[in-house]
Amino acid sequence: MTLLTSTFKTTKSEEIFAAAQKLMPGGVSSPVRAFKSVGGQPIVFDRVKGAYVWDVDGNQYIDYVGTWGPAICGHAHPHVLNALKEALEKGTSFGAPSVLENLLAEMVIDAVPSVEMVRFVNSGTEACMSVLRLMRAFTGREKVIKFEGCYHGHADMFLVKAGSGVATLGLPDSPGVPKSTTSDTLTAPFNDLEAVKALFEQNPDQIAGVILEPVVGNAGFIPPDGGFLAGLREITQEHGALLVFDEVMTGFRIAYGGAQEKFGITPDLTTLGKVIGGGLPVGAYGGRRDIMSMVAPSGPVYQAGTLSGNPLAMTAGIKTLELLRQPGTYEQLERVTKKLISGLLDIAKETGHAAYGGSISGMFGLFFTEHPVHNYEDAKQSNLPKFSRFHRGMLERGVYLAPSQFEAGFTSLAHTDEDIQKTLNAARAVMSSL
Ligand SMILES: *Cc1c(COP(=O)(O)O)cnc(C)c1O
Repeated sequence: MTLLTSTFKTTKSEEIFAAAQKLMPGGVSSPVRAFKSVGGQPIVFDRVKGAYVWDVDGNQYIDYVGTWGPAICGHAHPHVLNALKEALEKGTSFGAPSVLENLLAEMVIDAVPSVEMVRFVNSGTEACMSVLRLMRAFTGREKVIKFEGCYHGHADMFLVKAGSGVATLGLPDSPGVPKSTTSDTLTAPFNDLEAVKALFEQNPDQIAGVILEPVVGNAGFIPPDGGFLAGLREITQEHGALLVFDEVMTGFRIAYGGAQEKFGITPDLTTLGKVIGGGLPVGAYGGRRDIMSMVAPSGPVYQAGTLSGNPLAMTAGIKTLELLRQPGTYEQLERVTKKLISGLLDIAKETGHAAYGGSISGMFGLFFTEHPVHNYEDAKQSNLPKFSRFHRGMLERGVYLAPSQFEAGFTSLAHTDEDIQKTLNAARAVMSSL
């Protein structure tokens, strides 16, 4: 599996991607996949299993992207696949109630402290845009506070100082987003309570709420400073505003009940996605019963979806959560991921590269930087050319990392100590040559 640079061939990937670029903008269905920020050709996948992915040239990689988070149990887990095969025989879409929705809803409500009722949608983007409508309807206020470098999907109102692909491509904003749509979106630096307080003072009785990634994963990995989440809970309550955790990435990832369980802070509303779909397209938003009761058809806030609550997606979600709620899951993720990140930081030190990083459960990040990273401005100080060379070197040695300094990494229950050791061996070789 450990490939030497000289034997690394990606001829088929190159052919397929060249054709794709004529067919689809940038040759991809989602921007970060195109490797623009790290340079070079993206790898075209053929299949995935456990902790591994295989490209169309037959190269095998240890995977730390996990289809951007959902593959927390390992790719193509038999428990999920077998249930999907059975579900498939009953049909691919109902467009009518099914008991599967009840099952997944119960699991989400049991797990996530803030969630008393839930609505299923098809993506994290949809969950976030719907939750914003609900925040505004419930409070009768139009402004919202988000944080620099946080990503809440690609809906217009959130494309202000957004993370993920927007950060990766260095787009300040997106053309096509009218000023009128984002003029009610206020931004503050992550981990800066004073900035949030100032915004509330400058906009009295106008702010519907605060939305954030409780642990940022879309500007690289940035955990909240002690007291930050509790401070936001206090400030929002003081001003009659809602606190919304976007747990599309962290939900069922950093703890079974997400960041809100991990840090003991309960928001009013929560968005979910990624893991709860078990690799099929699912998003969800949920929270306090009095707020969720405003959603149509029980209330006036309209939101709908032809494929929402899709039986295959619900099945994959249920089976994934069944695996995750077994004892020891998050301890295992924590142990393996700590071993990876502490190994990477040690190797960086030994080979003379300034680096800063950390992990929580199965989520991690490593910046090539001299300074601690508490917010997006700090993250932007990292050495991007060095990250690109590191990324390429790791790829050539059979390790698939997210192709951007501004994306968190993910481990899964399928990653073994041997996988971590191989990854660290590759990292040592690459960092020695950077
Ligand atoms: C991925 C992500 C989204 C968007 O979800 P999609 O399913 O890609 O639309 C929103 N918020 C956060 C925190 C995410 O990580």
